[in-house]
Amino acid sequence: MTNKKLHLDPKYCILVTGGAGFIGSNLCITLLNNGNKVRCLDNFATGKLDNINALLSNPNFTLIEGDIRDIEVCKSACKEVDYVLHQAALGSVPRSIKDPITSNDVNVSGFLNMLVAARDCSVKRFIYAASSSTYGDSENMPKIEDVIGKPLSPYAITKYVNELYANIFSTTYGLETIGLRYFNVFGRHQDPNGAYAAVIPKFVMQLMNHESPIINGDGTYSRDFTYIENVVQMNIRAIAATDKKATNTVYNVAYGERTDLNELVALLKEYLSVFDSKISEVQIKYGPTRQGDVPHSLASIEKAKTLLEYHPEYDIKKGLKEATTWYWQNLKQ
Ligand code: NAD
Repeated sequence: MTNKKLHLDPKYCILVTGGAGFIGSNLCITLLNNGNKVRCLDNFATGKLDNINALLSNPNFTLIEGDIRDIEVCKSACKEVDYVLHQAALGSVPRSIKDPITSNDVNVSGFLNMLVAARDCSVKRFIYAASSSTYGDSENMPKIEDVIGKPLSPYAITKYVNELYANIFSTTYGLETIGLRYFNVFGRHQDPNGAYAAVIPKFVMQLMNHESPIINGDGTYSRDFTYIENVVQMNIRAIAATDKKATNTVYNVAYGERTDLNELVALLKEYLSVFDSKISEVQIKYGPTRQGDVPHSLASIEKAKTLLEYHPEYDIKKGLKEATTWYWQNLKQ
């Protein structure tokens, strides 16, 4: 586990919203392994019971099936909680373009409910999933936390509004907050199915089934793909931070390198071919670029390194090797 060198006091009770989802379930597992009491609040909109089934028998784990759009649910979930790791949201840019109202209800009104509940229950710190989409049309490279552009989708607006609200709750009510701008996270438990699946699990499943992945555009678009272990590390560091200068702000959570889609598919084929040599022969197809997609994304992680001592241990190759092994062992039919 990446947090070996990190000391997180096991006496804390931590609420993970969206705890049945990809990132949330990985957080729950690490925290339970550390001996913490973990409460998971999820309405299973996109989360899966499979992700947390193994945790249900752990006496330190409590599942609250509920919706963050209900303030009473949020308040009861926050009672006697030390830290909140708020992950619950509707992800995906295309989903928000198709249905901006529901994305706004969950990602903005639900977020505000959680802030109010955390404030009223005097939680020590509210740490939340922000997003690299907040950089919008900014062409700066690498992305530095203070320089953002105009949002390019309803989803990006919701995530930016989260940051604005968190800042106001810090300055107005004294609630400590930390926003984590995740950059294209991947790894075990990420859902490969459905119209809004992320590119890595979707391509992995297609390759495992000998189907051609379709790259949007010519494959030169690039992303700072970030393995889940780095994200877990960052959340633990955000809880453990004792320096006040490190709080009431936002951080990029990334590895700090970018990989284009052509390179990504080549790596996936290489690692999956270890299990099935025929995968190396699967052809790649190319389609039109997608609305709302930025051509390139690369994070500066200097702020997190300096203020939170964040040191990502997984580059894309190490992460993809683990992730492809997990998909092969768990989802290959
Ligand atoms: P996910 O869809 O796997 O997890 C989200 C979880 O929130 C799911 O379990 C879902 O059921 C739950 N949820 C949704 N609406 C809810 C509601 N109304 N009430 C209670 N629970 C609700 O997605 P993820 O990739 O694990 O994302 C977690 C967070 O990280 C989200 O806030 C997302 O916007 C953010 N994020 C993710 C990425 C990424 O690359 N995965 C990048 C940037 C930001």
